[in-house]
Order: sequence, then structure tokens, then C-alpha cells
Amino acid sequence: MPHTVQAVVSRTKDAPVELVNIIVPDPGPGEVVVDVAACGVCQTDHHYVVGGVSDDFPFLLGHEAAGTVSQVGEGVTHVEVGDYVVLNWRAVCGDCRACNRGEPWYCFATHNATTKMTLEDGTELTPALGIGAFAEKTLVAEGQCTKVDPAARPEAAGLVGCGVMAGAGAVLNTGALKRGESVAVIGCGGVGAAAVAAAKLAGATTIIAVDLEDRKLEWAKNLGATHTVNAGSEDVVARIRELTGGFGADLVVDAAGVAATYRQAFEARDLAGRVVLVGVPAPGTEITLPLDEVFGRGGSLKSAWYGDCLPERDFPMLVDLYLQGRFDLDAFVTETIGIGDVEPAFEKMKEGSVLRSVVTIGSEAGAKGAQA
Ligand SMILES: [Zn+2]
Ligand SMILES: [Zn+2]
Repeated sequence: MPHTVQAVVSRTKDAPVELVNIIVPDPGPGEVVVDVAACGVCQTDHHYVVGGVSDDFPFLLGHEAAGTVSQVGEGVTHVEVGDYVVLNWRAVCGDCRACNRGEPWYCFATHNATTKMTLEDGTELTPALGIGAFAEKTLVAEGQCTKVDPAARPEAAGLVGCGVMAGAGAVLNTGALKRGESVAVIGCGGVGAAAVAAAKLAGATTIIAVDLEDRKLEWAKNLGATHTVNAGSEDVVARIRELTGGFGADLVVDAAGVAATYRQAFEARDLAGRVVLVGVPAPGTEITLPLDEVFGRGGSLKSAWYGDCLPERDFPMLVDLYLQGRFDLDAFVTETIGIGDVEPAFEKMKEGSVLRSVVTIGSEAGAKGAQA
């Protein structure tokens, strides 16, 4: 039986988001309905609102979520009703050319649900990143659900589903950080802060956090940065070199994704070092690099898609490390808010006053937000 639930929808470009009723139909074959418990507010949700992703309005926002499977469609074997899951937006297919060559984290044909959620008038919704979890219930492909330890509170666990995984994976997977290496992270919002925390976890001895805002540098310090550089008042490349014996860092993560920060990352790495781009550049961003130095400095310039993660491998690992007190997901939860408070949360995100605002659903906060 279809469910009518409250959800946050972006109806038209640049307009404030709305809390409306949507219809979540029964899951089709291979699909499941998840009762969302918590969902983080991510930059990408806002990119949808401003038309930066596509023009397929209306969007059902939210994609950084944890919840409980409440209904399964025909043939679902991956999860059962009652399973506690974190949602992922790259459910690998197992059969594309990337999967077939043994690199499923690059999967070129990831799965989403094909059954459509709609507005009450029948208008089909486009779920953000194929998830749409600022909603009491959402409908996803079974492979988008990754079981994790239910001891992890949903506000923290859900963050593993996007920003935290992107940042941590940029260091652990794409950057292949080794014990004792030096790392610089440029841009210390949610993704960059996760990169800093992962660098500490992996045993980096020098971890340099770079940002324009002292508040974010302070957060990065709490997560493991050994040094901080304020890019507004200091020469980023010179400072990173100075802090790494004059050489540059073994790994530089660009979590900002603008031409100026990429250039800094390129220049601030050691010979044979790695640059990993994880910040999503605005369409049309271009950069000029000296080709002789691209060659002469060696190493690699890589991009991290979703932290080049495998959700089934990496989500439970990060959640377990969290429960063991070794990866502080709680530090990313700056505030919890109701489902009606997504628009103000976008403002706080733009100001840089939060690492993450997390919508809680079905709790007191959720109920309060819903009335607003
Ligand atoms: Zn594939
Ligand atoms: Zn995201």
C-alpha cells in the first residue's frame, strides 16, 4: 500500500525548499522502502536547488541518511525488514566494464530504484543522488542499503553515506595514505574534515589543515590536524613546504575544488606525491598547469568519486571504528534539526557555521520541525 509522508522538495530553481506530502509507492522488484531516522544536509542538496546538477525538478532532497528497512520488493535478498542501514548513492552493478575488470568502486552503471515517488498530484520526483531522504520514508534499490551496527546513532551513522565517506575515502582509498606520510587538506568543511580524521586514523605524522576560516581550522585540529594554515593570511604553498621539511606533502587533498586550490595542491606536494581532487568543481572551471612540471614532479593527479568507496566494505568499517572511539563521527554533527528546518540549514552551511546540520525524523525534533 502506498504511503503518504512528509518530505522536503525543491520545486523550482532557486526557490526556497518546501515541506510537502509525497507518495511513496510499494517497492518494485529489487527495491526497498526505508524509514529514515536521520539525514545530513550536504552541499550537493543545495546544488540541486540552484539547478547546478540538472533541470529535472521537482527534486526530493536529502541523501546522507540512516534508517530502517520497512518494506521489501520481490526478489530482495540483500536486506530484510528491520535491518538498520546507511543509504549509499553508488550501488555497484557487478557487470559493467569497470566491475568486470575488478574495479567496482568505479562502476559505470550504478543502481537506483526505478519505481517513482511522486507529489500528491502524481508529478514524479527526482530523488537527490537517487536517494531522497529528507522524508519519513524513501524508496531505493536494495543495493543502496548497507547494513551497519545498530548501536551507532543514526545522526552519526548517516553521515558515512556521503560527505564523510568522500573525505575519508579520498585519503584511504584514492590517496592510499601510508603510515608516517605527510598530508595537507585544503578546504575543511565536512568532506575536508573527514579527510583530516582519516589521515590521523591511517597514521599520517604531519597533517596540515588549510582553510579560510579559523572556526573550521579549530574543528580540523580537534579531528587530528597537527598544523593549521589560514589561507586568507598565509602563503599556503610556502607554509606546507615549510611544515614538511621544505619538500611538500606526500598527499595533498583538494576538498574545495576551485582552480586556485587545485593549483596550490599541485605545487604543495612533494616530488612523486599525490594530489587527490574530491571537492566538486563548478561546471566550466578550467586550470592551466605547466606541463613540464606535471612530468617533472611525477607522482599522480587523481580524482576521488565518492571516496572511491565500496559501501559494503567501507561503511561498516567506519561505523565500527566510530563505535570503538577511533573515528569521531559525533564531531561532524554540529546540530540536529527538524525536517522543516532544511532551508535555514542551507544558510548556516553557506556561512560555514556548521560541519553538518542533521535532520532527525520521527523524534521530538522531527515532529517540531514538521509543524513549522
Ligand atoms: Zn558496474
Ligand atoms: Zn552529499
